[in-house]
Amino acid sequence: MSFSDLGLSDALLRAVADSGYDTPTPIQRQAVPSVLMGKDIIAIAQTGTGKTASFVLPMIDILAEGRSRALMPRSLILEPTRELAQQVAENFEKYGKYHKLSMALLIGGVSMGDQLSALEKGVDVLIATPGRLMDLFARGKILLSGCAMLVIDEADRMLDMGFIPDIEQICSKLPKARQTLLFSATMPPPIKKLADQFMDSPKSIEVARAASTNTNITQWVVETTSRDKRDLIRTILKAEDVKTAIIFCNKKTMVRDLTEQLKRARLPVGQIHGDMEQADRIRELDRFKQGDITILVASDVAARGLDIPGVSHVVNYDMPWHPDDYVHRIGRTGRAGRTGTAISFATPEDAENLANIEKLTRQKIPRWQGQSAVAPAAAPVAEPATPAEPAPKARQPDTRPKNDDRPERSDRRRRSRDAAPAQPARAAESRPA
Ligand code: AMP
Repeated sequence: MSFSDLGLSDALLRAVADSGYDTPTPIQRQAVPSVLMGKDIIAIAQTGTGKTASFVLPMIDILAEGRSRALMPRSLILEPTRELAQQVAENFEKYGKYHKLSMALLIGGVSMGDQLSALEKGVDVLIATPGRLMDLFARGKILLSGCAMLVIDEADRMLDMGFIPDIEQICSKLPKARQTLLFSATMPPPIKKLADQFMDSPKSIEVARAASTNTNITQWVVETTSRDKRDLIRTILKAEDVKTAIIFCNKKTMVRDLTEQLKRARLPVGQIHGDMEQADRIRELDRFKQGDITILVASDVAARGLDIPGVSHVVNYDMPWHPDDYVHRIGRTGRAGRTGTAISFATPEDAENLANIEKLTRQKIPRWQGQSAVAPAAAPVAEPATPAEPAPKARQPDTRPKNDDRPERSDRRRRSRDAAPAQPARAAESRPA
């Protein structure tokens, strides 16, 4: 099947061809014709599957007919983070280049002046994070009664971030006769409930998890200790095939500390985490995309879903607490047919988190067998090491949290949830075999 079989306009097909895409991805094949027919959709898909184009492309053709009115956006896309909202806006510009559609981006952390004047003139599509949208709505600056199309993207992440009550409120302010598209990597009960409440006989679509199918990513676990991580990361980053790397930490204090430490080692490094001003986050991301820096230390909140081409390595400096985050983190590499390497540091305290990740991804991640000072980044990818003996319990690291060393908001919520007795991995539980 080619793009021309999907029912899209010639102008869109030209924009798609300009983007260099030959064939639609599975989610695009399944979603685009149904969206064009006006159906509601629930799609279980995550970033890396081409899901953004699966809703942006048909939206552009639908919105091409009709006119925008002052203060009344015709469609609304809800995103959990500012970066994702920005990324979707970039997609709109890319695919909509032969259309004359107007767009406004409503995200926290940037000045509202331009966004408000765009809204006052009338926009075809509004891309927003729930908090900023609710804020504006409460101040009477926006009317949602003309919004005939709603996209709720990354719904499970919205849940993690505590946005579901906001989304329920937003849904109740939109006209009942509308088209709703919901995208989520997993379908936990509160998301299912949201769909039952606000959607009309939706078509369900499910595409394979990126992590279980993406054979482009070579994965390693390096067994280490908290104390040895610092040396290990420098060794890995200096390995010659590490071209660009995103290093994930679980806490923003660790993002800051590690960035400083790598700067002292004269490595070209930047950082991104939830406590930074939006302008600083954008600047750091741009520096990384432009190649001014080749290493980005990141927290989950700031880095989820980012589409940065050509990232050669992802390093989990901290093993993620939640297995879904592992899937999202490593999906920053091996994108669009390229190969990538994901290296995760595992301390003895990470045993349970690692087991949950392996359960979710249905694989045993090879343990790097070399000395702790040897970088797996330099390893031949064709011959993964066989699982190793458990790491010797050399020195127990001091893992007591410092007072200001709190995880980011979504992590705090998750940790308390994950601490419940006998709670299995959420995604592993809700996913079919
Ligand atoms: P997404 O899942 O929306 O984050 O998209 C992941 C990446 O795939 C982005 O870089 C898109 O530009 C790219 N992409 C989307 N659709 C296609 C396609 N049909 N062929 C090749 N790449 C695509």
